[in-house]
Amino acid sequence: MGYRVTLIPGDGIGPEVTAAARTVAEATGVAFDWEVVQAGEEAIRTQGTPLPDDVLASVRRNRLALKGPITTPIGSGFRSVNVALRQQLDLYSSVRPARAIAGEGTRFPQTDLIVVREATEGLYSGVEHWVDRDHTAAETVNVITRKASDRIVRFAFELAKREGRRHVTAVHKANIMKTTGALFQTAFQAIAPSYPGVQADERLIDNMCMQLVKKPEEYDVLVTTNLFGDILSDLCAGLAGGLGVAPGALYGDSLAVFEPVHGSAPKYAGQDKADPVAEILCVELLLRHVGEREAASRVFRAVWETIAEKKVVTYDLALPGYTLRPVPPSRCSEMAAEIARKVPLVDLDAPLPRPAGAGLGEDSHLEA
Ligand code: NAD
Repeated sequence: MGYRVTLIPGDGIGPEVTAAARTVAEATGVAFDWEVVQAGEEAIRTQGTPLPDDVLASVRRNRLALKGPITTPIGSGFRSVNVALRQQLDLYSSVRPARAIAGEGTRFPQTDLIVVREATEGLYSGVEHWVDRDHTAAETVNVITRKASDRIVRFAFELAKREGRRHVTAVHKANIMKTTGALFQTAFQAIAPSYPGVQADERLIDNMCMQLVKKPEEYDVLVTTNLFGDILSDLCAGLAGGLGVAPGALYGDSLAVFEPVHGSAPKYAGQDKADPVAEILCVELLLRHVGEREAASRVFRAVWETIAEKKVVTYDLALPGYTLRPVPPSRCSEMAAEIARKVPLVDLDAPLPRPAGAGLGEDSHLEA
């Protein structure tokens, strides 16, 4: 019996990238016992609801889940399964590392940030209504509590301490949002002095966005509320190489769910084209979480080497990137197979390779 993990394939490219992640997880030699459950569009088709009770029961039972992205209809239709899952399982910490891998596909090869986002309240609380019958005015309530602010701030400092990070920045808009913003700011200012080894400072969200695209290397751990965290984690994913390579984790007090930052990218569904790296790096985070540090490092290193070699990479990494060397794109499953092949072979003591001829180019860009 290995680690029993709930596997939620999800929608769009979800089934492809979770299959890829599973291939790599199994290449580590760590034993997994996957419990596959459906949420999202497939669950609506087969069970009439996007978030069946057995999904919640499975995650509560196994305490570990690997999840693919789930589509949320815009403006109408069912409420976000992703938001509901976080709220119902009290997965209050969304942790999104943004690491530039092999310096590929980014203008900012030094980027190494972690965005810690409160995931259960704020503007995503689901408290919203039309003000009038004609639907010409509407309100969404920004719910901020001292309890949730305290626990996310403490979580960010504990994570910084555990990971050897030296700097935590609180991101808010307390100058304009004088109750909700100030409540979060007060929590940060009260807790920061308990961590004297970690530098603590604050930025307003608008200034933070500007600072990040100018000098991301000056930041380390960012802690913020739900909506700001959602936006900042995509911004940081872009700094680090795009949505295709950005993993994420959701933690509660006893549960952990690992999911990429990206969504279901419906236009690529079923084409075996999407970048599997974000979901594969979710496996790395899962392995680290359960204490399988060597296997986690093998996965990270196999991803790094595959990207640095730039022989078997998906379309987003095949573009002219850091190395200015476009290559023919590989399929999602081919890249996963290459990473899985490398997992048992990598030398954990060797320095991480940089792509040959690396240098930033003016046309460095990524569609994602
Ligand atoms: P998206 O992340 O699905 O796609 C945006 C673009 O990023 C894509 O068109 C593609 O160019 C690129 N991209 C994303 N993932 C990629 C990958 N693995 N490889 C290569 N390129 C990739 O964002 P969206 O279009 O805004 O959202 C689509 C759906 O996903 C929506 O219904 C949204 O609500 C949902 N969503 C779900 C989650 C989640 O499940 N946690 C997160 C974000 C969005």
